[in-house]
Parts: sequence; C-alpha cells; structure tokens
Amino acid sequence: MDEFRLIEAIRRVVRGPGDPRVQIGIGDDAAVLAVRSGQIVATTDALVEGVHFRWDLCRPTDVGWKAAAVNLSDIAAMGARPLALLAAIEVPATLPDRDVVAAMRGLARAGAAHGASVVGGNVSAGPVFAMTVTALGEPVDGRVLRRAGARPGDVVLAGGFLGSGALGLDLLGTHPDWLRRFPTLARSYRRPAPQVDLGLRLATLGEVHALIDVSDGLVADLGHVLAASGVGALLDTARIPIHPEALRYARMSGQDALAAALSGGDDYRLLAVAGPSSVPLCESLGMTAIGAITARRGLAVLSGGKRVAVAGAGGWRHR
Ligand SMILES: [Mg+2]
Repeated sequence: MDEFRLIEAIRRVVRGPGDPRVQIGIGDDAAVLAVRSGQIVATTDALVEGVHFRWDLCRPTDVGWKAAAVNLSDIAAMGARPLALLAAIEVPATLPDRDVVAAMRGLARAGAAHGASVVGGNVSAGPVFAMTVTALGEPVDGRVLRRAGARPGDVVLAGGFLGSGALGLDLLGTHPDWLRRFPTLARSYRRPAPQVDLGLRLATLGEVHALIDVSDGLVADLGHVLAASGVGALLDTARIPIHPEALRYARMSGQDALAAALSGGDDYRLLAVAGPSSVPLCESLGMTAIGAITARRGLAVLSGGKRVAVAGAGGWRHR
C-alpha cells in the first residue's frame, strides 16, 4: 500500500459516529473543535516499540488502545471530560499495513469508549513503530483536580486494583502458557481502562483535594502528589487493593504482589486525596481508603503494625 492509500484506510477505521463538538475532523489541514467551557485540558504521551511495548506480547489493536488509554488516563486524572485524540505515528517499512490500520482501530475504539474522537494525525516512516498521541479534554464547571492540594488529615484513596499491570506484563513475558488462567492480568496490561467516569465524579466533589493516575507505580505517583503538596503520607499495606488473580499469580511465580502494587507500573487507576467527610462518597464510587496524609514529610507504610519509611520509587522491598 502506498502512503495515501494507507492514510485512506486509517481514515475509514477511525471515523467515529460524529461528535457535535467536532466541527471539522480528519480531512482538512487541521481540525476545528467547539468548546463551551473556554478551557482545554491537553496532554501527550508516546508508545514506542521496544521501549514501551513488544509485538510478541501485544496485538496491534492493543497497542493502539493503550496509546489512547494512557493519554485518556491523564485527562481523567485532571477530572476532565475527554474531547479528542490526535495521533502521530512512525511506521517501519517491515510492518504490514494491516497492523498499522489495526493499531489505529484500537486507538479509535478506546477513544470512542471514553467520548473522544480521533480528529487528526500524521504518518511518517521511522525506525520502529511509535504512536505519539495527544489527548484533549474539557474541565467540568471550570474545575480541574491537580497534584497539589493534599493536606494533613486527608485520606488517600485508590480507584481500583494495583499491581495488575506489572504482574500482567510479567505473565505475558515469562509465563505465556498461563495466559488463560489469568485473563484479567493480561487485559490489565494490554488494555487498561482509564477511569474517566470516576475522575468526572471526583471533580464534582468539593472535598477532593488532589488527583493523579498511577502510571509509574503507587509509590512514585503518590510521591508526586506529596512533593507538589508539601506533605507526607502513611499507607496501610493491608488495605491496598490487589486483584485475586494478582495474588494467585504472584504466589505461583514466586513474586511479591504487594511490591508490584507499590512499585510496579501500568495500572492507570486513579489515586485521590480527599477530606475525611468525602471518604464515604469516594468509597461508594468504588474507591478504597489506603492511608492518610501526614504533616511529616516522606512516604511510610504500615506493615505488620510497624512504620517503615519508603525511600524512592523502588524503595519498597518486602522483608
Ligand atoms: Mg498521569
């Protein structure tokens, strides 16, 4: 396929059902979007073959899905509503066009599932396959949730199971023969579901003080919130939600599920810091209270009744 035919094939798979906010979509020199709120939330992130994914562990549609999902997770982590995606891709000569089209289909599906249309992009030759995705969103009622804002006495809440992404990657790489026994783990890594609806709900609660998504691991990402807010935190390891499949896989493969939850990456669950009065509401949205914000700086965990300081993102090792 030549480049123009490839672009036409991509256009066909990314064309969505039509969003009234998209006044001009793919096909002109640039897209035109109508936004009522007067503010745009914007983020960009790349998925690069050999760096962020391997073809032997993911299907082409998964790669596109994930490229969209990691960006939509950042929109969710601002408490914003997704609007549109743009994708600049680099394609090596060795990659079949059908895989490129499938990756773009995965991108469009993840976007459509979360209210974002694909409105533009670029195709270029490159040494390896890479997708650089830009996601745009809109704040709800002019309010966004930032990393700064956590206060001593606040509660730390996780939006879902942690550690599944890292253990899912391990499963795909080292025990592919066990795939059928751990479908949730594999899916967590290949097709993370950004918590867009949860982020939107949290943005409407007055007492949610800070929000981030867990992409690099709980310790690292909570660390960003603590640094931005000038506070510390004490986590209760017994309360960190870990999926039953993650516990079982860790046991069978001789790993530590708690270490994966604390220091693994690729979970894309939201992590909120809220005033105590908002905790029941957050819990009713499926969140789990896992610790408290402290005036004392630094991150510590409560493990077996003892307070253990955590140094750095990889600083937690189960003893
Ligand atoms: Mg993020």
